[in-house]
Amino acid sequence: MKEVKVCFHCGNKTQMELINNHSHTETEYEFDLEGGAYPIGEYYEEYFFYQCPVCNKFTLECKESDTFSSFPSGELIHTIKTLYPAIDTSKNRLPSSIRAAYQAAQKVRNIDGAICAIAIRRTLERMCKDKGATGRNLYTKLKQLSDKGIIPPILDDMSILIKDIGNQAAHADDAEFDEPLIRSLLKFTDIILEYVYVLPYEIKRLQLTMSDRKKEEEEKETKESAS
Ligand SMILES: [Zn+2]
Repeated sequence: MKEVKVCFHCGNKTQMELINNHSHTETEYEFDLEGGAYPIGEYYEEYFFYQCPVCNKFTLECKESDTFSSFPSGELIHTIKTLYPAIDTSKNRLPSSIRAAYQAAQKVRNIDGAICAIAIRRTLERMCKDKGATGRNLYTKLKQLSDKGIIPPILDDMSILIKDIGNQAAHADDAEFDEPLIRSLLKFTDIILEYVYVLPYEIKRLQLTMSDRKKEEEEKETKESAS
């Protein structure tokens, strides 16, 4: 069986060969005081093992679903994760142009260091624009955002790296972008994006959950005092 997928080793979108798959089901039980166990739902995992016909390397995906989350139609909601090679495409909270640039960087990280650095720079440039920074180069824009408290003050440690991607990525030389440097740049970008776009959303969600809870408790109290 073949399926069209992007290979995160070589970057080609191609007909990947499904070599093997495996399904796993986990049942969740509720217990009563007499020791009886009642199944209340199931978690499903399906693993897919693919081989890329272009570079011959392997990809492992996991499709997850459970009986607790379904569409109104009854169809289960599922998520597909790429477990191998290790890439991060989970940044669903990013504005689409920034997410696209960041995913491009992730996709080529194992393939071409210089191109990955250019994609990282593009990601950061787009974020700076989105957040209204107006400096003359990437470093001054990031500095501006750091001074305004929009990004965390970790820039001083990273300034050499940022100047590197500012200056060198344009006239790219593979030797300058070895694996440890790319890894640091991606980590840095990851932290910044998390801080700027993901954390505020998570905090908002937490606040809403807390206020929902408070409302529920208050309603319960009113009911109890009324009866
Ligand atoms: Zn490939």
